[in-house]
Formats: sequence, C-alpha cells, structure tokens
Amino acid sequence: MVAGVQACILDPQLRGLYYATELICMNQAQQNVDPAEVAKFDALASRWWDPDGEFRPLHEINPLRLDWIRQHADLHGANVVDIGCGGGILAESLAQAGAKVTGIDMAESPLAVARLHQIESGVVVDYRQTTAEDLAASEQSQYDVVTCLEMLEHVPDPAGVIASIHTLLRPGGHAFFSTINRNPKSFMLAIVGAEYLLKLLPAGTHEYRKFIRPSELDAWARTAGLELCASIGMHYNPLSRAYSLGRGLDVNYLMHYRRPGTE
Ligand code: SAH
Repeated sequence: MVAGVQACILDPQLRGLYYATELICMNQAQQNVDPAEVAKFDALASRWWDPDGEFRPLHEINPLRLDWIRQHADLHGANVVDIGCGGGILAESLAQAGAKVTGIDMAESPLAVARLHQIESGVVVDYRQTTAEDLAASEQSQYDVVTCLEMLEHVPDPAGVIASIHTLLRPGGHAFFSTINRNPKSFMLAIVGAEYLLKLLPAGTHEYRKFIRPSELDAWARTAGLELCASIGMHYNPLSRAYSLGRGLDVNYLMHYRRPGTE
C-alpha cells in the first residue's frame, strides 16, 4: 500500500470506503468477472440491437448458430440458460424457437437494453444479473440446454464457467460454446482483420492472450465431466461479406457437449 493511501485510511470514514472498494474488487475477482471486460459491453449497450452497429457480427451470425444448436438439441419446451447473454440477440431467438429462456450477464446496461427490447418484441426471456457460478449454486441440474457463446474469452477463469455449466445441466443436457482459437491466423483475422482493417468490431473488443484453443476448451470440459458431441468452424468471407459454418476450427468455432446420463 502506498504511503498516501495509508495516511488516508487513518480517517475512519475513508477507511470504510477503502475497505468497501477492496471488498467489491475482491468479490468481482471471486466471482470470476473481469470488470474491464464488463465495462466494455456496458459502454456499448445502447447499440446492441442496431443491425448496422458495433454488434452487427452477432446479428449476422445469429441465424447460423441458432440453426446449429437446433440441429443438435430439441429447443421446444426446453429449459435453457444463455450465459453472457448481453442485449439478448441469442436469448430472444432461442425463446422464439420454443424454449423457456433465462439470460444471465454481469453487465447492467446490456441487460437493461435486453429488458426494453423484449417489451418491443414481445419475446419472453427472464434476464438476471448474475454469474454462471452463482446460478449453479442455486439451480443444480435445472437446465436442458446451456448456451455460452462469445463469452468465455472475456472471463478470467473460463474453466470455472464450464464447470458451473456442467452443474446447471440435467444429466443428458446439452452445452454449446463458441469462442476464438489462439494462433497466428486467428490473431491476423480476428484482431488485425476484424477490428482494425475491416472494422467489423470496435478495436480492443478482443485480447489475443484470452483466445482459447479447442484443445484447451475440450480439456476444461472433460475435467468438468462433459462429453464432446460436435464442433464446427465459423468463417467470414470478406468479399461476399457473408458468414458460414464449415470445417476448420482455426479462428471462430462452436462446440457442442453433453452431460452424460439419461434424459
Ligand atoms: N452471448 C452473446 C453476447 C456476447 S458478448 C452473444 O453471443 O450474442 C459477451 C458478453 O459476456 C457481454 O455481454 C459481457 O457483459 C458478458 N460477460 C463477460 N463476463 C461475464 C461474466 N463473468 N458473467 C456473465 N457475463 C459476462
């Protein structure tokens, strides 16, 4: 602790404030939340549903990823939780596909935008500000499907999120993850290309060191007790400006797991 701060906290009121701040930081760290990451999404929240805004890629990839999820899991009447739901692009589409959806996120403003948007769209989603870890403490084995897309690369401990997802799933339940691989090609395409050259995403959206290799994700999922069912790459063609799913997990990719056991 620096001397100035030490002197300040001799004042009982400031001391209280200092310990309160310390506690918030400690809680966030214990909660597996990176406050800087959450702040990025808070700042951009009002743009979430603008199909031509900063979240345009999420709007464009959404039908592809929803289709892929539907190919592997029956959403009709399914109890689904979307972890890191942001403004609710995927959460609303899962609900439209017939699921009963809970959307959780730690950023306050995207959740506020999501709640406003559902008033307009009339699509029912139960939005909550919480972490996967906290939800897992109270809702063990409650979910048929857990989705966690484009979120793991924004948390300090992705393995912890995956372990909580296993806890949230009923035996036989499905987990879907998507994230970005870590290699020179993904650095060139997902950071240099997408953020700086093509400006598909705001600069600084992603940090290279937080990208996750499929082998790492798979090791965490296996340790958590999940079984791999399928994986697929997500590709962007800068000429046609279109996204597609296909072979090759070297940049963006999705993975499907199941919790072993009977339905
Ligand atoms: N899954 C959504 C949004 C992805 S953006 C989609 O693909 O459309 C990443 C989201 O993860 C942001 O909304 C951010 O606030 C959220 N997030 C980051 N850390 C989180 C944490 N520890 N717990 C819950 N949400 C988190």
